[in-house]
Amino acid sequence: MATVRLTQLDGALPNLALMKLAHWHRAKGDDVTLTRRIERDLFEPAFDVVYGSAIFGFSQDRLMRFRRQWPDAIVGGSGTPFVHTVEDLIGGEYEHHDYADYPDVDYSIGFTQRGCRLACKFCVVPKKEGKPRSVNTIAEIWRGKPHPKKLHLLDNDFFGNPDCRARIAEIREGKFRVCMSQGINVRLIDEEAAASLATIQYRDTKFQERRLYTAWDNIGDESVFFRGVDMLEAAGVPPKHLMAYMLCGYDKAETWDRIWRRFHRMTERGIAPYPMVFDKARKDLVAFQRWVVTGLYRIVPWNEYERETKSLESTAAFARAVEHASL
Ligand code: SF4
Repeated sequence: MATVRLTQLDGALPNLALMKLAHWHRAKGDDVTLTRRIERDLFEPAFDVVYGSAIFGFSQDRLMRFRRQWPDAIVGGSGTPFVHTVEDLIGGEYEHHDYADYPDVDYSIGFTQRGCRLACKFCVVPKKEGKPRSVNTIAEIWRGKPHPKKLHLLDNDFFGNPDCRARIAEIREGKFRVCMSQGINVRLIDEEAAASLATIQYRDTKFQERRLYTAWDNIGDESVFFRGVDMLEAAGVPPKHLMAYMLCGYDKAETWDRIWRRFHRMTERGIAPYPMVFDKARKDLVAFQRWVVTGLYRIVPWNEYERETKSLESTAAFARAVEHASL
């Protein structure tokens, strides 16, 4: 029996790759611990195998700390430069996941497809996964009774799946609530896809509000983005159900005017923007992100919020300096 440490380096959602490894190792009788801690705990045993998984590019500092602490660890995930996958390690056919390390999760999570039809420069999905292909039915993702009919799909291009019609029919006929938090590809949406979305119970990450996630990352996509929004609205998905990720700080030519244009064009249609900051060192963008995602933008003007944030930061920096000087 081997002792195994699975380390989730980022992400609020359950990590599917680690869940698969947990199932695979436990099926062999191994002793598995899943943790989010990077540093070795005082009471941790010596492990035979250590894994680390990061899914976001901005987790590089955590990844570096992890590799220093666990130099022999097997590391993977879309937030790392490593191209090997869990499937390379344990075989592509292994489709079991262990939910035991996420006792608070009552939904079922998975992919109906992998890959993406587009090739955004900042994204690793097309490089790592290639063109879209079908990987699971809804019946294969749902854990079955007594688990609720709640699905969290991680698909990056749901409608790129050649079998997407069958998946929509399964969701609709099975009366599933579904969260598609990676976003549907509004730039490629057509009338049939829009109409099919209007027939299913799409939900936010808490499975409460009606919410469909999408993205508007480049200012140049304005007309194609709103063409998709209009098509969804005509089919019965109102813009107030949409949350759109907006990448900020990636495009070298980006200006605040361009960011404001995307922000205002979306909010005036009732779409909820969700800024994604490419470079966390950009304090101005991080503050903008916080102002938007907390909903404060509805009640506090940006210049007031920015002034307050700067004054709080300088008070905190002053307090740190005083504390340091008195040591
Ligand atoms: S549409 Fe999404 S998944 Fe596809 S390449 Fe662009 S960012 Fe990546």
